[in-house]
Amino acid sequence: MVPSLLILSAGLAVTLGLLVIRYCREQTHRSEEIRRLEEKHLSERATLQSENHALLNALNDPLFLIDAEQRLQFANILGMSLFSERDILNRPLEEVFLDRRICDPIRQALKEQIPVTTQLTLAQESSPFDNEDHPGETTWLVDARPIDCEQSTSYVRVIIRNTTDEHHTEQVRKDFVANASHELRTPLAIINGYLENLLEEGMLSDQATALRFLRIMRKHGKRIARIVEDMLIISRLESGEAGSLKVKPFRLEACIRDVVERLESVITEQGAEVTLSMSDPDLRMKGDRFYWTQVLFNLVENALKQNPEIALVIEVGSETAEDGLRIWVADNGVGIPAADLPFIFRRFYRVEKHHSQVEIKGTGLGLSIVRRAIDAHGGKVDVTSVPGEETRFEILLPKTAIAKSKPRKNPDEAFEVKSPRA
Ligand code: ADP
Repeated sequence: MVPSLLILSAGLAVTLGLLVIRYCREQTHRSEEIRRLEEKHLSERATLQSENHALLNALNDPLFLIDAEQRLQFANILGMSLFSERDILNRPLEEVFLDRRICDPIRQALKEQIPVTTQLTLAQESSPFDNEDHPGETTWLVDARPIDCEQSTSYVRVIIRNTTDEHHTEQVRKDFVANASHELRTPLAIINGYLENLLEEGMLSDQATALRFLRIMRKHGKRIARIVEDMLIISRLESGEAGSLKVKPFRLEACIRDVVERLESVITEQGAEVTLSMSDPDLRMKGDRFYWTQVLFNLVENALKQNPEIALVIEVGSETAEDGLRIWVADNGVGIPAADLPFIFRRFYRVEKHHSQVEIKGTGLGLSIVRRAIDAHGGKVDVTSVPGEETRFEILLPKTAIAKSKPRKNPDEAFEVKSPRA
């Protein structure tokens, strides 16, 4: 009996041992399997995360992730670049953005779980983005949106977009509309005033007065037409028509001659002198002749307009230099004060009335057209002025603006000096 019991218990012990060994093996196997699965999961997560980061880094806007504790958890490359050297990860909102106007909408989006968008302008000194790429005043759009995710922690994704250029364009457009309306209102009010007078009883029978009123009205009507015409040219140049300039070769001297012919009556009336100084009188240019005529017309007309009372000499010239083609219009008139020089190419900018100028003659758009037309041809324009000595508008064009020379069809068709003394 005893030996059989012993055998049985030995058998049981062996079976139990085997079972334990098997169990242990299975356990080891299972934990290996779990570890493998965990590793796989971790590596899949890392891949997903790096794909997500790559995607977020490919965004064109700075993007940030803020957690429920109001700390910055992630910034894409553009987001990081706004802060140059600063370490911003894991820092509280106010330490990152410094400005309440940026923090408040983010806090509101976190608290109320709603999207919040706001636009703000920052002066460079107070800007939290210590980046030299954005000097001066900048405008930003802050767009904070809660992220709908299954995790318990809620996040807000924030896009902070630099809208300075759009804001500037919009501002320029608004100013243009405001200035244009203002410029048009004055002559319109004058015309309406004279019309009212003419419609008063008996006014039409006084023919001399009626004629005088009509002439004044015509003058202001012409002014309105000129403003509208100039505005259309600017708008055509700005709306990309510059990309479709009608570029053809033309003789610069012929273009100058057209301009002088159009202004001949004023030149004669003022007793002004117009001289030509071209290193190559046969020079042919590649460009849109319509705009070049406009450029030279505005420059010569300005010299005449600003100097009705002096012995004015205007020189129009050109020369081919190392760096390209130079064209200039210079006069010996009253000039432009140094303080005004940086602004005169702005739309509707006029120098405070010159002493001799009794009324406003220009539209304030002439030089703006000059600059835009030259830009469209890939050139630059500059001005220097020593009042009473020389006011010089100088245009520099790339050499590609010079066309191949060709003999003149009519060699007699040369420029004549326009001068009362010639
Ligand atoms: P405007 O139509 O009034 O002439 P512009 O844009 O052509 O407008 O010129 C802007 C201002 O620059 C003019 O109002 C004038 O005061 C000044 N200006 C331009 N050219 C000359 C010049 N040759 N001599 C003196 N002042 C000039």
